[in-house]
Amino acid sequence: MKLTDVTKVYKIKGGGAVKALDGVNFELPERGMVFLLGKSGSGKTTLLNVMSGLDTIDGGEIEYKGRNLGNFTPAEMDSFRNTCCGFVFQDYNLIPELTVGENIALALQLQGDRDTNAKVEKALRDVELEGYKNRRIYELSGGQKQRIAIARALIKNPEIIFADEPTGALDSATGTTILDLLKEISAEKLVVVVTHDRESAERYADRIIELADGRVICDTLTEHNTEQIKATTIEWKKPKMPLKAAIKIGCSNFKHHPVRLAWTILLAVIAFTFLGVSLTLSQYDRVRTFADVIHSSGAQTALIYKELSYYDENVINQSLDQFLGMGSKVKKYVHLTGEDLKLISSHKAGVSLLEYNTGRSQITSFQDSIVASSEDRESAQQQTDKHIAISAFGFMVLTEADCAGLGYTVTGRLPENSSEIAISECLVNTFMIAGIEEDGEVYSISSAEDIIGHKLPINKIISDNSWSGDTDDKTITGVVYTGCTREEAINHDSKPSFHDKLYISSDYFDGYTRIVSTLPEEYGDIYDLAEFVLNYADGDYSYKFSIEEIGRLYSASDMALMLKNLCLYLSAIFFVFATLLIINLVSVSVRRQMKEIGILKSLGADFKNLCKIYGGSILILGSIISVITLIATTVGVHYVNVYFNSAAGVVNIIKYSAVACISLVAIILAVSVMASIVPLIKLKKRSPSSIISQGQLR
Ligand code: ADP
Ligand code: MG
Repeated sequence: MKLTDVTKVYKIKGGGAVKALDGVNFELPERGMVFLLGKSGSGKTTLLNVMSGLDTIDGGEIEYKGRNLGNFTPAEMDSFRNTCCGFVFQDYNLIPELTVGENIALALQLQGDRDTNAKVEKALRDVELEGYKNRRIYELSGGQKQRIAIARALIKNPEIIFADEPTGALDSATGTTILDLLKEISAEKLVVVVTHDRESAERYADRIIELADGRVICDTLTEHNTEQIKATTIEWKKPKMPLKAAIKIGCSNFKHHPVRLAWTILLAVIAFTFLGVSLTLSQYDRVRTFADVIHSSGAQTALIYKELSYYDENVINQSLDQFLGMGSKVKKYVHLTGEDLKLISSHKAGVSLLEYNTGRSQITSFQDSIVASSEDRESAQQQTDKHIAISAFGFMVLTEADCAGLGYTVTGRLPENSSEIAISECLVNTFMIAGIEEDGEVYSISSAEDIIGHKLPINKIISDNSWSGDTDDKTITGVVYTGCTREEAINHDSKPSFHDKLYISSDYFDGYTRIVSTLPEEYGDIYDLAEFVLNYADGDYSYKFSIEEIGRLYSASDMALMLKNLCLYLSAIFFVFATLLIINLVSVSVRRQMKEIGILKSLGADFKNLCKIYGGSILILGSIISVITLIATTVGVHYVNVYFNSAAGVVNIIKYSAVACISLVAIILAVSVMASIVPLIKLKKRSPSSIISQGQLR
């Protein structure tokens, strides 16, 4: 190793600089024991660090085997330390998380050597500590620790051993045994020892280089130590971090920060549980749920209607609903047109009946014309055992085919155009009590045939919910027998007999409020129809089903969407905190283990190896978080289902899907690993010596 005009300047915070090395020149042989002697602060440690690649120089050149250390890439520098250098430090720099044997083995394992057992035994024998393999570091005396450090330096069979005040922390007797050991080693290797103890230097040295203020003031270069290291190629070894040691070092942090760890896990679990429920909810298949419900209800018919939703500026701004995806749109029924009917029937739905729905109370003039008061109605009901009706509830298109299908019979005939109308048996019963008023005169009615040809006064409709004062007289063409029971008539129960309608021909209105559609029988066809109806969108228009069994499902699926978004936003908030906590946990661990990181770097570990330590332990943490989260999410999903069950009467509206599960675990692990790398990036560029010295301050 040849040093030419080597300088090193430390910049001091707040300006100023210290010239720690000031033009150092010398050349070292292939073996022997060389002492760097000098007072404290003379630059010995700095010199050792730059020679061993623990630190960089600011001027001059260090040449090793014909190569300039200044030209090494950071990766080559890691390899250089890993392959060529062994270190012995004043305060041993063993890794407390590992046993004696593991500490020694790590140096070998970093070179990719898996089979370390015999070599560790031998190294322990060499330093006369046989049988100490499974001891903990804190169980050793200072001299024993230093011997373990020497064993660790030797086991890689490096070309040079660098020892910085190796006896500084030891009593003189123990120090002597250490120097004896190093002297023995120097028969085959170059051993560079830093000391301020002139006496021992003179006793052991083959050569003494004395420093003062960063300069060589004396060099006892003798004949026998001028033999130079030959320029041979260096065989680089890529550092590899053994997993077991990585996890042991990484996980040791957890027990040092239990509260922080608990918070990290708690917040991460909360964040990921919200995310998990949200992911699961995003898997909610609205169409399938509707199809399942329709199928299991056994319903034969469904009402299908059309809805218009639009923003109304007069409606108060429901911004929270909008934020959660519920929308603040106003919804209103619109009429189905012939085009709509064609579309719906093309999806295996039988379009059977068309309704034009109106509110009962709005047909008052019609009611007045029949029975004046509720007392009249009561007495009328008592006069006959037949069922009567005093008003009609909307209009329905009825064809002969419909009648045949529904089993209705007709006296007279069905209406053929918009000036004609047919009425139900119930209404005729009423007219048979009260008579029918036409042009100011009351005609008595004694049979269904009697009413045919009379005019029925019907309020003119302006729009859905408003009626003009005028009436529109329609000619009665027939009476429809729907087979309704007395109870149905009294309770105004419209289904299934549709006895309370006025029957019209299809050209009576331009469009219809809703259709009564027969449902397909096959599940696949039901699904197809449900898919069409639920997904139909033409601008702001959409179709809706209306059957009792799925009435509450609409709000349930709105709720699913809202919950999904709510969970997503909540998870985002907790996610930020959880990520910050993971980063913080790793940062604190990295700071606590700063010295160990420096040691590992001095042993040749690279950035990837360090990531393995913290990534590995965080991956374990991530797995713990994953397991708890999956349990919590399962519980969460269960309660969402319980809620839906009570709100919509639907069982298992959302299913816990494998996709949601796997994505969740993948996200947790990815976030954990990313968060663990962040604190390490700061250390990537720093020299091992500065990391170790920062770590020593702690
Ligand atoms: P020695 O090992 O001989 O006691 P050092 O090599 O540690 O001396 O230090 C040489 C000089 O460089 C000293 O003046 C010391 O204060 C300074 N020095 C050492 N390390 C640093 C550092 N990281 N930052 C600033 N100055 C430093
Ligand atoms: Mg020093």
